[in-house]
Amino acid sequence: MTNRGPDLNRRKFLSATTAGLVSAGLVKLVPSCSEAKQETPADDDSGKEMICRKLGRTGYEVPIVGFGIMNASNPELVHAACEAGVRYFNASAGYQFGRIEEHLGRAVNRLKIRDKVVIATSEFDYNKLRGISPVEVKRKMITSCEGSLRRLGTDYIDIFYVYEADNPRDINDQAVIESLMALKDQGKIRYTGVTTHSNMAHVIEGVTRNGFFDLVLTSINFTMADDTKLLKAISDAAAKGVAVVGMKVMAGGTRWPNPESRKNYSSSTIAKACLKWVMRNENIATCIPGFVNFEHMRQDLSVAYDLEYTEEEAKFVSDNGIKLGIGFCRQCRKCLASCPEGVDIPTLMRTHMYAAQYGDFYKARATIDGIPSASGLKACARCSSCQARCASTVDITHRVDELKTIYA
Ligand code: SF4
Ligand code: SF4
Repeated sequence: MTNRGPDLNRRKFLSATTAGLVSAGLVKLVPSCSEAKQETPADDDSGKEMICRKLGRTGYEVPIVGFGIMNASNPELVHAACEAGVRYFNASAGYQFGRIEEHLGRAVNRLKIRDKVVIATSEFDYNKLRGISPVEVKRKMITSCEGSLRRLGTDYIDIFYVYEADNPRDINDQAVIESLMALKDQGKIRYTGVTTHSNMAHVIEGVTRNGFFDLVLTSINFTMADDTKLLKAISDAAAKGVAVVGMKVMAGGTRWPNPESRKNYSSSTIAKACLKWVMRNENIATCIPGFVNFEHMRQDLSVAYDLEYTEEEAKFVSDNGIKLGIGFCRQCRKCLASCPEGVDIPTLMRTHMYAAQYGDFYKARATIDGIPSASGLKACARCSSCQARCASTVDITHRVDELKTIYA
């Protein structure tokens, strides 16, 4: 089927500046999602409306394509995304030392659309909060939230996440829950969520059972089509009003996956096919592709108007050679037993993805530094040949070697 979504002229997008898209009449401001449905770009003659979904029980409704702004170094891109109708922004206090929150805050405030966008951010992951007293957890989380509010130039955060839950026990951490309740009582945050990219099905089940968190941000992409447990957990969560938001939707930077896929499919086909696979699942409220330029933004946002696959896109998502060749690490932890040194291979593989696929060496460095040294890359330095084996298709040996070259 032909994709008749908006195909904005590349030159016009590339020339988008602070006031570019709006003043050029390409895209009108979108005061709310219901109005977004009537505000298609001016040169889109398809008559299609932006598809929006409810963010679970929060009552918010947002377009099905949001923006993970981790690598959005260009403030104009954040601004253009606001103008183009993006309404869900995923930031973090840790992205580029807080600079990303500042970009987002400036764009939203300049456009005067604070009440029309959903801002999700946070700083802490469960690892950083373990082993400290409840009083200290609360102090840290409140201080961190106040820092985010300052950088964002706002007096409330819509979604405050706690990162990297990898165990259902994390979800029940009372010190974290009480800190989040205090932040809610103070009016600093509105809703809460957890993120997970390891042991996702169990974590999502925990979120659904616990009932405290309103959202879960999870890894999900077309290479996981056979993960029935995860898909069921997502469906059960959605049925209980937990908003499921998709990340790693391009299987870790699948715009440039491997020579084989680039040979057979265009970058645009790959990006759109990946996003469509995720968002054709109606249990997923929205997703956060991390577009880093205007061309990527154009491609990704076109999916918000049309989820039908083109022939090429359908071929891509069902191409087993591609799925296996990408070597996306699902963080399943099944490789752990194969390493004699007890190295945290899943986190090393995630580090590799940040460095090799996202090109985000700062995030990679921060991730690698977060691994206790006994189970980190230093242990690999003692190993002359890697015996670790992936239960899927990740070439652990090759990636560990590359990490050693960069970081050891
Ligand atoms: S490297 Fe393979 S086995 Fe290990 S966590 Fe990743 S996908 Fe699972
Ligand atoms: S090189 Fe491979 S087998 Fe050796 S410690 Fe590292 S992950 Fe384990």
